[in-house]
This record gives sequence, structure tokens and C-alpha cells, in this order.
Amino acid sequence: MRAIAVSPGVTNSARLEDVPPPPVSEGAILVRTLALGVCGTDREIIAGEYGWSPPGESRLVLGHESLGRVEQAPPQSGFASGDLVVGVVRRPDPVPCPACAAGEWDMCRNGRYAERGIKELHGYGAEQFRVEPEFAIRIDPALDSLGVLVEPASIVAKAWDHIERIGARSRSWHPRTVMVTGAGPIGLLAALMGAQRGLEVHVLDHNASGPKPALTRALGATYHTDGVAAIDRVQPDVLIECTGAPTLIRDVLGRTAPDGIVCLAGVTAPGHALDFDIGLYNRTMVLNNETVFGTVNANRTHYEMAAAQLARADRDWLARLITRSVPVERWAEALQNRPDDIKVVIDFQS
Ligand code: BGC
Repeated sequence: MRAIAVSPGVTNSARLEDVPPPPVSEGAILVRTLALGVCGTDREIIAGEYGWSPPGESRLVLGHESLGRVEQAPPQSGFASGDLVVGVVRRPDPVPCPACAAGEWDMCRNGRYAERGIKELHGYGAEQFRVEPEFAIRIDPALDSLGVLVEPASIVAKAWDHIERIGARSRSWHPRTVMVTGAGPIGLLAALMGAQRGLEVHVLDHNASGPKPALTRALGATYHTDGVAAIDRVQPDVLIECTGAPTLIRDVLGRTAPDGIVCLAGVTAPGHALDFDIGLYNRTMVLNNETVFGTVNANRTHYEMAAAQLARADRDWLARLITRSVPVERWAEALQNRPDDIKVVIDFQS
């Protein structure tokens, strides 16, 4: 079968190649791949900056944003042929640490977790994949091809889940406003989930044109392009940083309303030392009871939350997030960054 594979650590090694069918050791459920979403992590892996092959192999099948249809499932697995499914990305570490032992592999304490298509496990970017029933998420058939958004949405569902848990440190905390920085797929899904919570939603991005302003407004949210000035105007109760852009990260710190929560959800490469008034930052944080936290990955509960939240969202709006769908034989085009891209998917049915 055809798979998109890389040699981790080697720049631009991605290729479409013939690989053997997935072994049963990868899971009892056999899935026919329908679509694969691509994201910044895939680009980093292709650039040779991130990613690890399974032990003893030099190749890694890429892809962690999956969508497929079950072809075979064992009778007692809870899945049946024809089900639409998404595979969970992370697997618990083998020790396991207390977090992984509790099913919170997204909070792994020893870093020995594995991730499909990223770290030591083959990904979902092949014509067929296998997955264990405990790491498969059945999705509402009505979502259809939009199911490919469940994995990125799971990251955001976790971010919101943790924001609410942190907010609950104060019995009286009822946020009114959220600002999301970065109107990419993660940012727009974060804005959607803010709107679904009934919050006043603000999105800050540097693009004044393209599809992002209209997608934001369609949520009833406000779109800003004037950086720090917008944050100071809004003084959000919650700020979700989705760009990973170093200067913006510096600028969001200490800028929420009192008792505010900043959630860092974008990944940055090291090597960006900036001027920063740590005295002012510490003073603001302490005197205003503010919190800054980071979040990555998602556990099963978050995938389920994401699937339910997407099922409640406007399908036409979700469809507008998928700005390009590229046939698998032209997979390389999907990895190019084009100006109006939001989410790009590789179509495995073509
Ligand atoms: C994936 C996460 C993963 C992270 C770090 C992201 O792109 O969505 O599941 O934990 O990369 O590898």
C-alpha cells in the first residue's frame, strides 16, 4: 500500500512509497484511510527537526490527524465495519508514570510516551492503518469528511478543559471574554469552543485579508489585526496563544484581566532571547492572581469532547476551515504553506 514516509532527522526526506500492510500488532481494528490533515508538526518532521522512527527502523510513516472507515473489527471491540473513526495520537509510556497509568497520557511525566506519526510509532498516513479499540474514536457519521478536524479539535478541547479547571481555583470565576491569538486551525477551533461556551470572543491575527476575518465574524466574534493594542483594549479573562511567535508570546504575558489565564498552545523553536521586564511581569502576575500554563496533546476524554463539540458546530463553517484537499499522489502540495491556507488535508480516496 502507499504511505507517506520520512527518514526522521533527514531534511526533505518525505516520499510516497510502497510499504507492507499494517501488522496486527498495531491494533485489532483495520481502517481504510479517507483523509489526513497536515500541520506544523508534520512540516517540522519533514524539515528533519523533529520526529523519531520506531526502534530499529529508519522509516517513519507520517501523519497524526486521521480519518478513516473501519474495514474489520473484532466482534467484542465496540466497533463495526463501516464506522467512521479517528485514531488517538499518543500512547502511554511503558513504565507507566502515574499520569499514563490513569489514562492521562497527554500529561506523561517521564517523556517516554510514543506518538503515531511523530514519535516511535508509524502514523496514519497510509492507505490503511490499524489501531487498538481503546485508541480509536468513533465519530458522528453526519460529520463525514469534517471528522479529520477531530484531532486538532482534541488539542483545543484539552486547552479549554484545563482553562476551566484552573479557573475553578476561585469559586467566583466566571469568564466573560476570551482572546485567541492566531487564526489558524487551532486558533479558530479555540474561538469556536469559546463561542460555544457563550463567551465574548476576540481573535487576533496579522492577516487582514483572506478567509480568516470572515470565519471569525461568522462565529459572532471580533477580528483584530493591531497586536498588543487589541489585547490592551479587550483585557481578556482568558487568552489562548496559538501562534508560537516569540514576540507575541512576550506581549501576551501579564496582559489579561485580573485573575486571567493565559494558555500557551503553540510550539516554538528554541533560540529566541528577547528583552523582557521580568520585574513588571512578576509584579503583574502576583498582584493580579494571573496564571500562564502550557498544554500539549489530548487524552481520550478530550477526543470525545472534541467530537461532540464539532458535531454541534455549524457544518458549513467547519467545512470552510478545510481550505485545500489534495489527492494523495500530489501529497507534496499539501505540505506547502500557501497564504490563504487554514487546514489542508490529503485525500486518500482519490
Ligand atoms: C500533535 C500532538 C503532539 C504534539 C507534539 C502536535 O502536532 O497534535 O498530539 O503531542 O504535536 O508531538
